[in-house]
Amino acid sequence: MSEPSPGGRFGDYGGAFVPESLIPACQELDRAFRSAWGEQAFHDQYEQILEEHAGRPTPVTDATRLSERLGVRVLLKREDLTHTGSHKINNVVGQALLARRMGKHRVIAETGAGQHGVATATACAMFGMECVVYMGEVDVERQALNVFRMKLLGAEVRPVASGSRTLKDAINEALRDWVASVESTHYCLGSVTGPHPYPWMVRELQRIVGDEAREQCRRILDGTDPDYVVACVGGGSNAAGTFAGFVDTLARLVGVEPAGGAAVGRGLPGVVHGSRSMLLQDEHGQVSESHTISAGLDYPGVGPEHAHLAAAGRATYVAAEDGEVLDALQLLAVTEGIIPALEPAHAVAWVARAAGTEDLPEGSTVLVTMSGRGDKDAQQVMDILG
Ligand SMILES: *Cc1c(COP(=O)(O)O)cnc(C)c1O
Repeated sequence: MSEPSPGGRFGDYGGAFVPESLIPACQELDRAFRSAWGEQAFHDQYEQILEEHAGRPTPVTDATRLSERLGVRVLLKREDLTHTGSHKINNVVGQALLARRMGKHRVIAETGAGQHGVATATACAMFGMECVVYMGEVDVERQALNVFRMKLLGAEVRPVASGSRTLKDAINEALRDWVASVESTHYCLGSVTGPHPYPWMVRELQRIVGDEAREQCRRILDGTDPDYVVACVGGGSNAAGTFAGFVDTLARLVGVEPAGGAAVGRGLPGVVHGSRSMLLQDEHGQVSESHTISAGLDYPGVGPEHAHLAAAGRATYVAAEDGEVLDALQLLAVTEGIIPALEPAHAVAWVARAAGTEDLPEGSTVLVTMSGRGDKDAQQVMDILG
């Protein structure tokens, strides 16, 4: 995947649609990341921390029993085996390192389901930085366990009472804090969304997933690449990081959105939270709510680079329904002994549905990014399945 234009454009998408007061902060961050990412020493430090504290590199597992069942060869990139249990740690460790390099001792973040808040609080504890997490009041109540985790990790959680009191309001509040505190504070954004440089920076911090996986697949597949590379898409960071490793191969890239939050599949172009992308909106152009079983994919927008990859025809975006996601979670559990998070179960659901059709012919090899483990969702799944 290529670099965006200097203004952060991926084709017709991206950019930095923020209040004037935030432009200098975005530009400072762009300069700082560009300089850090150009230095081998920064890469070495980032990779060493992920190796020592987060269990990288994560393996690629040949899912032999699942493959037998489906008639396609499934390989799993195991981000579920990282410290804190998902790919989010890659992004937050990179941003915490960058914040320290920029001389900022305070980090703020937004969170919906709480997973990005927990990951940010974890990185801040590792680096001895002050951490404030904005979270809608509704989410604070729904995600009490993650709120407690963040507090255990030394973070302050600030409930947001405005608007619908969920993720989008938490993002607005975090942006407001950043405007007022930019001298001392870094805003650690959680996906490939928001104004430039975030979509590009977060993709670069997640490309370790795809770069590792490409090498590992070549070892397993006698020097060849998988025919298909599949990942779930909320904001799109695990998919962007995975795709980055394969975009210059012949692999077909497939992003799987939740049916009730299919921003690429069912959205329209629009601007939200600082960038132009595809997003779910009503007939008046107002952002509509997404509805999905998976809290981590519950976002009406999507990162601008995915909108661009779809428009350019380089990646395909499909949707999975809640019911088939629950089936896929159970299928992976009984065939491979892996209980995935509900998010990557979307990717498995599409593979299970498409296997043996012209979308995913019998005998194909397919890499699926297992973005996270299912412990966090066990209670919810138990309540549904009984
Ligand atoms: C947060 C999360 C996602 C969704 O975020 P993306 O930016 O789309 O990757 C997916 N899987 C897991 C396990 C998550 O925690």
